[in-house]
Amino acid sequence: MGAVQNEAAANEQTSAPSPCDSCSSNSCSASNKKLTESQQEFEERRRLASRLCKIKHKIVVLSGKGGVGKSTVAVNLAMGLSLAGKKVGLLDVDIHGPSIPTMLGLEGSQVMEGDGELIPVELDGMKVISLGFLLNGQDDAVIWRGPMKANVIVQFIRDVAWGDLDYLIVDSPPGTGDEPLTVCQTLEGADGAVIVTTPQKVAAVDVRKSISFCRQINLPVLGVIENMSGFVCPKCGEITNVFKSGGGKMMADDMGVPFLGSVPIDPQIAEAGDSGIAFLEQYADSATAKLFQTILVPVMNLEEKE
Ligand code: ADP
Repeated sequence: MGAVQNEAAANEQTSAPSPCDSCSSNSCSASNKKLTESQQEFEERRRLASRLCKIKHKIVVLSGKGGVGKSTVAVNLAMGLSLAGKKVGLLDVDIHGPSIPTMLGLEGSQVMEGDGELIPVELDGMKVISLGFLLNGQDDAVIWRGPMKANVIVQFIRDVAWGDLDYLIVDSPPGTGDEPLTVCQTLEGADGAVIVTTPQKVAAVDVRKSISFCRQINLPVLGVIENMSGFVCPKCGEITNVFKSGGGKMMADDMGVPFLGSVPIDPQIAEAGDSGIAFLEQYADSATAKLFQTILVPVMNLEEKE
């Protein structure tokens, strides 16, 4: 299914009744048409607002660069919440590396359309949408130009039948460019970002940029996770620090953001990612899974802070 077709379908339904029609909130930014926007832009903004209104918590997973474990954190955070009985949506808009279908064993799944909405793929009650579902094959590359990428990101938030959710976890494209900016701006009122980094110095420089990025767009930083920090020996379980560890914590303290914790390099994390079963589900009893879960506690308990 092409993104352009989806856009056409989305445009067709702009005159359909919006849930906003029955909502009496005057404080909602979508309650009034702005002078500068067309009727279609207003309808689209309302559709987005009504979609987001039904999602209690929105969390963006960000990283300064690719390959640091951002998708791994997104998948395991979503799965951890789902296993805890929450209604969860997982959105993979990492345009150039949509790896979530592989990590959850959903390669080849198709996104269907119904009533002008995109129907997410369901995995044990968790709703999943990935750009990977739109590609014909795993080896296909996305070569869309900027505006097309931005359109697809917005459609994946606005035009998907997410329904009522406790949490929407978004695996953002890496970096601090246009694509993560579109993600964060579209998710107006998001709870915040979890930033994933690795111990190497260069990654710490990148992560500082991610924190500044969040500050500039007023997105709270829920915390930093230092991934691939030390190596877990598969035989004895001992952790060896391959790179100098502790950089993530120092950087987080220095930047005044919470440090959630360090996750070691664990061959079982890589294996789970390749086998299509979330690590927290497949190796729930392992020491690293327990550590991972502890690290995610502050993010998973957002509801208790309300
Ligand atoms: P990103 O989303 O930042 O590009 P991924 O989450 O796709 O990174 O991770 C890149 C690769 O590293 C994947 O194969 C994943 O399984 C593996 N990986 C991530 N974190 C760990 C870890 N702590 N231990 C072992 N392998 C990991």
